[in-house]
Amino acid sequence: MSKWVYNFGNGASEGNAEMRDLLGGKGANVAEMNAIGLPVPAGFTVTTDVCRYYYENSKKYPNDLMDQVRDGIAHVEKVMGKKFADASNPLLVSVRSGARVSMPGMMDTVLNLGLNDETVQGLAKMANGDERFAYDSYRRFLMMFSDVVMGADINLFEHKLEEMKEHKGYKSDTDMTAYDLKELVRQFREIGNEIGKVVPQDPWEQLELGIGAVFGSWMSKKAITYRKLNNIPGDWGTAVTVMSMVFGNSGNDSGTGVCFSRDPSTGENKYYGEYLLNAQGEDVVAGIRTPQPMSEDGSGRLSLEAAMPEVYKQLLDVREKLEHHYKDMQDMEFTIEHGKLWMLQCRNGKRTATAAVRMAVEMVTEGLLKKEEAILRVDPEQLNQLLHPILDPKAEKKVIATGLPASPGAAVGQAVFNAEDAETWAKDGKKVMLVRLETSPEDIAGMDAAQGIITARGGMTSHAAVVARGMGKPCVSGSSEIKIDYSTKTLTTSSGAVIKEGDWVSIDGSKGQIIEGKIPTVSVEMTGNFGTLMAWVDEIKQMKVKANAETPRDAKQAREFGAEGIGLARTEHMFFDPSRIQDMRAMILANDEQGRRAALEKLLPYQKQDFVDLFTIMDGLPVTVRLIDPPLHEFLPHTEPEMEELARHVGKDLAFVKQRSEELHESNPMLGHRGCRLVITYPEIGEMQTRAILSAAIECQKNGIKVHPEIEVPLVGSKKEVDLVKTVIDATAQQLFTETGESVEYTVGSMIELPRAAVLADEIAESCEFFEFGTNDLTQTTLGMSRDDTGKILDEYRTKGVYVADPFSSIDQLGVGILIKDAVEKARRVKGDKIYISVCGEHGGDPESVKFFHKIGMDGVSCSPFRVPIARLAAAQAAVKNPKK
Ligand code: PEP
Ligand code: MG
Repeated sequence: MSKWVYNFGNGASEGNAEMRDLLGGKGANVAEMNAIGLPVPAGFTVTTDVCRYYYENSKKYPNDLMDQVRDGIAHVEKVMGKKFADASNPLLVSVRSGARVSMPGMMDTVLNLGLNDETVQGLAKMANGDERFAYDSYRRFLMMFSDVVMGADINLFEHKLEEMKEHKGYKSDTDMTAYDLKELVRQFREIGNEIGKVVPQDPWEQLELGIGAVFGSWMSKKAITYRKLNNIPGDWGTAVTVMSMVFGNSGNDSGTGVCFSRDPSTGENKYYGEYLLNAQGEDVVAGIRTPQPMSEDGSGRLSLEAAMPEVYKQLLDVREKLEHHYKDMQDMEFTIEHGKLWMLQCRNGKRTATAAVRMAVEMVTEGLLKKEEAILRVDPEQLNQLLHPILDPKAEKKVIATGLPASPGAAVGQAVFNAEDAETWAKDGKKVMLVRLETSPEDIAGMDAAQGIITARGGMTSHAAVVARGMGKPCVSGSSEIKIDYSTKTLTTSSGAVIKEGDWVSIDGSKGQIIEGKIPTVSVEMTGNFGTLMAWVDEIKQMKVKANAETPRDAKQAREFGAEGIGLARTEHMFFDPSRIQDMRAMILANDEQGRRAALEKLLPYQKQDFVDLFTIMDGLPVTVRLIDPPLHEFLPHTEPEMEELARHVGKDLAFVKQRSEELHESNPMLGHRGCRLVITYPEIGEMQTRAILSAAIECQKNGIKVHPEIEVPLVGSKKEVDLVKTVIDATAQQLFTETGESVEYTVGSMIELPRAAVLADEIAESCEFFEFGTNDLTQTTLGMSRDDTGKILDEYRTKGVYVADPFSSIDQLGVGILIKDAVEKARRVKGDKIYISVCGEHGGDPESVKFFHKIGMDGVSCSPFRVPIARLAAAQAAVKNPKK
């Protein structure tokens, strides 16, 4: 027989804090609090296994579930000295949801369950004849049960309540008399009859339905959305905790509250919370009445400390005990019934990034935590809040559309609809928001001039997203809720909002929100605590964290954020600049070697200077330069005026440009003439780039700069390809060294971004001194899904549970991950530690992926500069959990 139900009460618990997967966070923590001697009302938890069973068996319970629930109720009756469904001494229960990780407000709860026309009188009798209290509980139950379990429209009930208050001239719910409440109960039951959703009188039936309703809320729209946003698997399910009710609404010696053991927004080590006298839990959170402070705060509102000093003292002890027990800031819910304190819930409290960092550092100083434990208390993803300015949390915001949170941070600007306008307006001192259907290389200067970017198309790894993240520029991309009309320069949302050229618009790139108007921003200070924490992180982590950067600005930013070198300089990005793109296009268009060499000659000085800049900024640290890898479609002009301009530039006519463009057209450019295929077919490109890299290195070396150039071959699928390109590199290097009489050390390695390369990693490793897994392309080619076009499909796939997380953001550990793991093992078999293995796709900055890469034995990761601190923290957390020898 399976065990579906775990009891707790009176100091003994069948569960504990370690059993979150089975009992949910709430169930596990009440069991733990009860076991360590805190006052917890007796109850039991129905496991998440039952939730899974329920969904796998057409919403049916296991046969023996209700028998176990009855035993659970018998246990609660014994501890609490009351009887369920008993007319004279009734036990009432709360039925609460609780998943493995907290999903605040996303699922349902029913309170005061067990009430009916008879037990309500028993409740009044037990409360020394307090009918007001009993009928207040009953009307609350009817409202909640009708809403959550029967699926009735809550507004019908709220309307009646308001009507009654207005009719009687009451300000607050607490003004209502027993007589009023009885009448309200009658009216509520009438509504039930009218709409055919009658709350059953039998408490056992109520309980059975209540448990099902909580399971049902696991699949509510908001719960599904929350899970998608937080990468929580749909098959975890929720547990249901059934607990004896204690009544905060039983008079002025009673109350209920929520408190945090430290201030969740600043992290200050002070008790923080609110309570209400004569109230039940939902009153505090629903904001119907203004809550009162825990201790004196000068507001003149009666504090708990003053109202009930004994209880307050007890709560201080609870705070102390729980913080020491969990070694983390706690969020607690309590109820006071006739002066007696009951703890209903505790969990690790949600906090801002500033608070998280401060608490982690201070808990080490206080001796509560070791450094290794402290760094686990900060969510790497949350560090984002500290690295970018944010929209003022206090400002009112009207979100008019959402898209992908492509690049974090807040931006506010006046809408412009092309890159040129962005530049001119910015030159005039205006702050602009660049709004585009999608972005292309020509837009780069406009992107640079803009505060932020909004696009209607493109995924998380689309050009706009990658470039914006690299620049630390907030971006919301791929918003299917907006329509952009270039001719009228307007953005229209599906909800009907219209943004015209010059209108102020704000974005939250961390949430993917587009907001009407000019919202004020605040920059979050990088406090001393941040520095302290990151110093511990660097002591502990075992992987190197480098940055993907190719411009001096990004490289400087990367160093400031603690990057240990450049792991990927995408050389084709160096040609996005309008002053260079025409020469790049001329090179692509050339139809013979001579034409190509002429165009390359023009590109060489730019490239060399770029590398001088990078080596100088990265003095002493390695710089991995990838040979050109341009998906051609990103570079070729599409419109006639652009083609004409290019024709003028190359001294040919429009027909030539058109014809060459047609010849170069590829049906599948991502799988076309790119990567190492370019150098293999046109070795002169590799010659020019090698010359630029190594002559820059020689020049820097002469100036006393320590250079470590690493030349990287992209998109290989075989050892032969690496060898062919290596021959070009080595021959060019030798020629350069002979010409100049100088030399410099360099290494050669390759990107592993095709399944074939992963499968043949042992063979390819023989020719390489380093590997960088290009997980953007590797995901694209392994899944057979375009990295630019699959946003909508993936959204649907995630709703239906095909993938939990977006595989382009967080590595698909079961598929692509296994391919990488096997490839790492193969390469190590051949080369041991003599090959540096890293990841430089977007996944290199994703905390879950970084932890996975640590586990499978990578030496490092590389990510965009603004993700560097996040990756460092994730790498350190991985090292604490799975230390490598
Ligand atoms: C990759 O494919 O993961 C990669 C880093 O290269 P790119 O994004 O430039 O294709
Ligand atoms: Mg790639």
